[in-house]
Amino acid sequence: MSEEKSLNFIEEIIEGDLQAGKHAAIVTRFPPEPNGYLHLGHASSICLNFGLTQRFPGYTNLRFDDTNPATEETEYVNSIKEDVRWLGFEWKHERYASDYFDQLYGFAVQLIEKGLAYVDDSTPEEIAAQKGTPTTPGTDSPYRNRTIEENFDLFTRMRNGEFPDGARTLRARIDMQHINMLMRDPILYRIKHAHHHRTGNKWCIYPMYDFAHGQSDAIEEVTHSICTMEFVPHRELYDWLIRQLGIYPSHQYEFARRNINYTVTSKRKLLQLVNEKRVSGWDDPRMPTISGLRRRGYTPHSIRAFCERIGIAKRDNMVDMGLLEFCVREDLNQIALRRMVVFDPVKLVLTDYSGEEWLSTENNPEDPEAGHRQIPFSNTLYIERDDFMEQPPKKYFRLAPGQMVRLKSAYIIRCDEVIKDAQGTIQEIRCSHLPNSKSGSDTSGINVKGTLHWVSVPHAIPLEVRLYDRLFSVEDPTDESADFLQYLNKESLTTLPKVYAEPALAQAHAQERFQFIRKGYFVLDRDSQDGKLIFNRTVGLKDNWASASQKK
Ligand code: ATP
Ligand code: MG
Repeated sequence: MSEEKSLNFIEEIIEGDLQAGKHAAIVTRFPPEPNGYLHLGHASSICLNFGLTQRFPGYTNLRFDDTNPATEETEYVNSIKEDVRWLGFEWKHERYASDYFDQLYGFAVQLIEKGLAYVDDSTPEEIAAQKGTPTTPGTDSPYRNRTIEENFDLFTRMRNGEFPDGARTLRARIDMQHINMLMRDPILYRIKHAHHHRTGNKWCIYPMYDFAHGQSDAIEEVTHSICTMEFVPHRELYDWLIRQLGIYPSHQYEFARRNINYTVTSKRKLLQLVNEKRVSGWDDPRMPTISGLRRRGYTPHSIRAFCERIGIAKRDNMVDMGLLEFCVREDLNQIALRRMVVFDPVKLVLTDYSGEEWLSTENNPEDPEAGHRQIPFSNTLYIERDDFMEQPPKKYFRLAPGQMVRLKSAYIIRCDEVIKDAQGTIQEIRCSHLPNSKSGSDTSGINVKGTLHWVSVPHAIPLEVRLYDRLFSVEDPTDESADFLQYLNKESLTTLPKVYAEPALAQAHAQERFQFIRKGYFVLDRDSQDGKLIFNRTVGLKDNWASASQKK
């Protein structure tokens, strides 16, 4: 192994800053808006921000960017905290932009007093028209030259609730001809008579993102404020406000948003899926949310490994969902307990075996510490219907008339006879076994190529199994030419109401992960009840998707 992973561009900047003595330690923050559940894109930002302060001295805050009272809820705050912790990270301080409303108000008054902010009575349409375009300069608002006293008086009255929503705004007084449109007298405060999830009805004016984010960073003395590329044009305003207010000089750095194929990573779109009941909720196992992935059986380790592998980039790009699946398969192969489950059963009878015995088998060949378990064996078994063929092609190593296979952890058997009903459907496969062929014993030179999983019929327990596929049928459902909902994959959920499992699975507990031998990785779903166990397929054993799309 190479001794050290190479640094990404943000790590290089930080290493440089530390070496130059600019900071003794760094402070980063993860700043979600509590208006939805976290998704894979957020996971990448979480791993980046928290990862930096694991690698370098310093700490990371969790800051809720809750400046928009209309969309934010405490339910989201709680889910975000749960998800960050589940991913394996712990923040130093839990902070809210709304904690700073008094300070932010004070900053606004400071700007007014310096002649750098004014109250504007223009309507939103008028303000938009004043902005100009990227190629034409803007025009000054008729209210731009109000006196400091008048601005102070009006802003106080805005705060006191004297004006209706939208009647006035507070704008920075910068330059309506500025080449950067965001510098053309941006709005700092708007009137909104709305209940806030934390401050209640205390405020009826709320700061805009640009007048809250950088200021909150400065208050917390965040050294490296990392956000996604769409904020590049905001950086100039971020710096301008910090300079004019003379507050702690936080710096903004940008990296590319992560998009994952066959899904959407936008809270607004995910909320639409939830509200329109296209999925069962934010934690539907098909959702790219952290809570959906958790319910699906993903491990925190696999999501961190995925974020580590995709790294960070400066240009937007699409990441293959197959990579996430690869990461979880790799992790589950190490930790998942092996169990035998038959999805589409056909009955197999051993005509020369009677009674029952308990056979010992490994829980996980990859992990000797996982130990062994006993599985019951009898003369009536279920095997998978498609593990038998009456007229097999060449090189078919599963069961066929006259052909031998090994039953996993049990005996070698041979098919002697097939019993069918009037419609020709196979009812029963009759076999005999080689008594000396028990797994681990001398098989007297007999070698068979196929090994089948099975369950003993009298001991079998029924399960419901839910199989998931891609939520969308195209790589980029947000391609603007059509409504993303039209690309929903109609076959993203298949429920198998009755499959049969070896009895050990009756003891499964929440979040315990299994490999159903030859079937994939599964986890117990929270919809399970006593006597009705439900398992979610996390991922198949192989990348079926890649091979299916190659065939097309
Ligand atoms: P959405 O569009 O889903 O609402 P957002 O960026 O508005 O995403 P925030 O809650 O504001 O969501 O984001 C919190 C942090 O997560 C921000 O720093 C943001 O840049 C980062 N983030 C959000 N989505 C992604 C993504 N797809 N890739 C990388 N980082 C992301
Ligand atoms: Mg946002």
